[in-house]
Amino acid sequence: MSWEEYTKQLDRCGVPQDGRDLIKQAFLFAHQAHENQTRFSGEPYVNHTINVSLKVAALRLNAAGIAAALLHDTVEDDKASLKTIRKKFGPEVALLVNGLTKVKKIKYQGVERQVESMRKMFLALAEDIRVVIIKLMDRMHNMETLEYHPKEEKRKRIALETLEIYAPLADRLGMWNVKSQLEDLAFKYVYPEEYKWITEEVKEKIPEREKYLETILPILKKGLNKEGVRPLEVSWRAKHYYSIWKKLSKKGMDWGRIKDLAAMRIIVKDIEACYATLGVIHTLWRPLPGRIKDYIALPKPNGYQSLHTTVFCENGKITEFQIRTPEMHRDADFGIAAHWAYEMAGKKSDGSPAQSQKFAWVRQLQEWQKDFKKGKQSSQEFLDSLKIDFFKDRIFALTPKGDVIDLPEDATPIDFAYHIHSEIGDQTSGCKVNGRMVPLSHSLKSGDVVEMLIQKNKKPSQEWLELAKTSLAKNRIRSAIKKKSLLLRPQAAQPRTELVITAANRVGLIKDISAIFAGFRINIESIKSETAGTDYPIVSIVFTPKNEEQTEKIKTRIKKLPGIENINLKPHR
Ligand code: MN
Repeated sequence: MSWEEYTKQLDRCGVPQDGRDLIKQAFLFAHQAHENQTRFSGEPYVNHTINVSLKVAALRLNAAGIAAALLHDTVEDDKASLKTIRKKFGPEVALLVNGLTKVKKIKYQGVERQVESMRKMFLALAEDIRVVIIKLMDRMHNMETLEYHPKEEKRKRIALETLEIYAPLADRLGMWNVKSQLEDLAFKYVYPEEYKWITEEVKEKIPEREKYLETILPILKKGLNKEGVRPLEVSWRAKHYYSIWKKLSKKGMDWGRIKDLAAMRIIVKDIEACYATLGVIHTLWRPLPGRIKDYIALPKPNGYQSLHTTVFCENGKITEFQIRTPEMHRDADFGIAAHWAYEMAGKKSDGSPAQSQKFAWVRQLQEWQKDFKKGKQSSQEFLDSLKIDFFKDRIFALTPKGDVIDLPEDATPIDFAYHIHSEIGDQTSGCKVNGRMVPLSHSLKSGDVVEMLIQKNKKPSQEWLELAKTSLAKNRIRSAIKKKSLLLRPQAAQPRTELVITAANRVGLIKDISAIFAGFRINIESIKSETAGTDYPIVSIVFTPKNEEQTEKIKTRIKKLPGIENINLKPHR
């Protein structure tokens, strides 16, 4: 691509004119540095860095960010060329290129290394958010061209790494679109057969769905008009393949239970109009209970905002609607990149509490990084003590295998254990955080590697209810305690009891008495009947009641049976 063509592309991305000199220098330098290199596709290598830089430009990173993207593969771990970069492009670009060179050394080697990779990513993030944004775009282009990689094994490894590190990272940065694109690109290589099946099924179903959404459009617009709401944009989008597949796996691969292959998206000018639109939709069509989600009042931890609802639409077809403002729409695509652009422009966001809190953790991260720089810690110590408040009110802790567990602030190992599995929670006997034993009351921090120690047949205790912060853990502890008390209490609290009943001799008496015990879910230990030569047999029943009250209830019920003369209670020897 010539410089002339390239600048036209920059114009299309809305990159301002000032700073173009810097970008041009980087553009020429990249051509020189990669002069005789080619990609697996046979293309000149520089096409890769150009593509990455344009993706970065589309996310509105500044000239230094675009230049760094152009240069991201030029420094191969030697200080001389980084020096050259600093001299030619200044400290800002050099800082970014250095960060990108460091991040490049992160090699995925199976799950046990995933933890370390994640930590290093967050480290880079703390230094400059742009490093991670550029890295994500680098990965995006590598995924787009992965088919040219000659080794199948490597294609799989790279795709798996994308699914397990880069997509979750994009999600946590609020770059929802980037996350979905990375997932779909990786899906093809990690689960090729499933991918083929899903794409074929969806391709068949989508046109029909599209036609249907076109028919509801005029009805919706008329309804909105009546309320004076003018939508800026109404569109529909197909769900991403990977997310459909994940949903299908949860629903027993039953397409009938996938309600939203496509969703209507409505963009209106402000928050007020969002709620008005929701009202219009609910007067036109009946909403599905439990499917109204107000992510405006309660944004997702990654900052995502929108109103979602699913309704019984025309002809009873179940249809999802997403309603948002243009700002929310842009943030869903750009996530942290949008936030970065705000900061750079010296503009404050719209001032709503949700907006100002959204990326508060980023500022915290940077503050903390500044403190670190003032100190005298080595980077190894820094890594070891890495404690990042990644979200304002959420933390993420890692299992030794590298699975990320999202928890609220102040969560304890008890919460962590129950969030992995209730069996692990119930049998918890201790916990190691970053290799050190901690009490179960310990507050977990983001980035902690948490290893739960379990003991077979151990049961949770009442005091765990105080330690647990999440309702999920509390509920599971409660139900485990309840189970435990049902199992233990009869033997412990109540002695075995014998009821001696005198009754008129009749057919079905024993059966009626047994039925009463069965009604109380009590196992009868023994039941004897003696006639002793009279018409009034004596029935003796040995059992263990749950409590005295229960014994009384049983007595009352038995008394009401026909022919009962007398009931005596005696402790069983
Ligand atoms: Mn690259």
